Amino acid sequence: MMDNSTIEKNVKRILSELPSNVKLVAAAKTRNAEEIERAIRAGVKIIGENYIQEAESVYPLVREKASWHFIGHLQKNKVKKAVNLFDMIETIDSFKIAVEIDKRCARLSKTMDVLVEVNSGKEPQKSGVIPEEVEQLVKQISSLEHIRIMGLMTMGPRFGNPEDSRPYFKLTKKIFDRISILNIPNVEMRYLSMGMSNSYKVAIEEGTNLVRIGTKIFGERVYEK
Ligand SMILES: *Cc1c(COP(=O)(O)O)cnc(C)c1O
Repeated sequence: MMDNSTIEKNVKRILSELPSNVKLVAAAKTRNAEEIERAIRAGVKIIGENYIQEAESVYPLVREKASWHFIGHLQKNKVKKAVNLFDMIETIDSFKIAVEIDKRCARLSKTMDVLVEVNSGKEPQKSGVIPEEVEQLVKQISSLEHIRIMGLMTMGPRFGNPEDSRPYFKLTKKIFDRISILNIPNVEMRYLSMGMSNSYKVAIEEGTNLVRIGTKIFGERVYEK
């Protein structure tokens, strides 16, 4: 675990460097409630979690202090919990999962804000919808009453050199802009979520307004599920 004051310093430094239109999501997988609370105290307003179980374990301590984005791969059998725990789900990549979210939210009289995840590198093992199919999926989901599409998210392939991510960010921004001008009812293209610790600066140059940063806030992850 990283020294606690280091977490605070990291958050403050990153926040001071981000352009005013760019929001920070602290990607908190593997981090405990105390680490998350440190980040919140230093100014983090949005926490990103990849695993329902982890979110549940840190919630009792920090739920009310931030808003929560789900950034992992969502399985159908976890949707019921996810719609209770999260304020936004960033990783919608099929109509089927959207229908399940809609159904669960209808019972709670709730509307879930979501982003559609783009598999911008068209990597077979990765989740996300391929670039050619994003617009169609957005249109399909827009008919669901209890879901509101708020933009797009992409991971892009992982590279050592952040410059290598640029074409994938550019492509996702292009899709984002194209869908924006369609003015699809019930779709508000407000957020473009791209960029992680090693690539967020490039992502900002390419027009992101939501960056998901883990390592640069909390240090290297000791284990990865
Ligand atoms: C872990 C994770 C991040 C943050 O990655 P870092 O390299 O630690 O900044 C961002 N987005 C998603 C979806 C993640 O799973």
